[in-house]
Amino acid sequence: MSRILLLSDIHANLTALDAVLKDAAANGPIDETWSLGDAVGYGPRPNECLERLRELDAIAVAGNHELAAYGSIPATDFNQYARTAIEWTGSVLTSDSRDHIDAMLLTIMRNPFTLVHGSPRDPVWEYIMAHEEAAQCLKYIDTRHCVYGHTHVPIAIPASSSVMRETRPRPGQVVELGDERWFLNPGSVGQPRDGDPRASYAVIDSTEMTVSFFRTEYPVEETQHQMQEIGLPDMLIQRLEFGR
Ligand code: ZN
Repeated sequence: MSRILLLSDIHANLTALDAVLKDAAANGPIDETWSLGDAVGYGPRPNECLERLRELDAIAVAGNHELAAYGSIPATDFNQYARTAIEWTGSVLTSDSRDHIDAMLLTIMRNPFTLVHGSPRDPVWEYIMAHEEAAQCLKYIDTRHCVYGHTHVPIAIPASSSVMRETRPRPGQVVELGDERWFLNPGSVGQPRDGDPRASYAVIDSTEMTVSFFRTEYPVEETQHQMQEIGLPDMLIQRLEFGR
């Protein structure tokens, strides 16, 4: 059996990332780790989060926040809070972090999954929240399934189904992939936006072809304190405790 840890939108929240790694390892060994973009941005520990991903030999695609912090896309494309955090992130990235981001691709194929941040049609900016967008995006992938991030909300969509439906998986829920073609989003490790402040992640069992969704608590106030010390925007600090 092969267990693949699915992480997305870590957003430089090292405390949340470490809680997720501990929680996932408690359920058995992890064979591979995939990061679906936005490991940096918003949060206080961008270099440390990228370093963790390197230690894990994680396969990582770039998200809009990596690209902006690196300078590949303009920070002016973001709202003022995100932009402030991006500019700070860009100013503290080490050369190892910059090299790491520079080597990230927008789309990676790991059969039977395609990895992207936003969507296969627009890996940087598109949000897939509903069945309709996922169904339209099927033609942009050469694999059976797609794993993605960007929404900061866990989602499972049977995109090939003629019945339009998308689910918001509950913690502990196991999705059996069966005959459908799925678009699967593990939610956000470091800045959840579904009203649950706990760190969100998922695990693929590539033998059983199931995806399990999880939430784990972490000391939110520790991350908030680190953000205060840096002087990151209050709005970004406060939203962590509400998961909004
Ligand atoms: Zn994000």
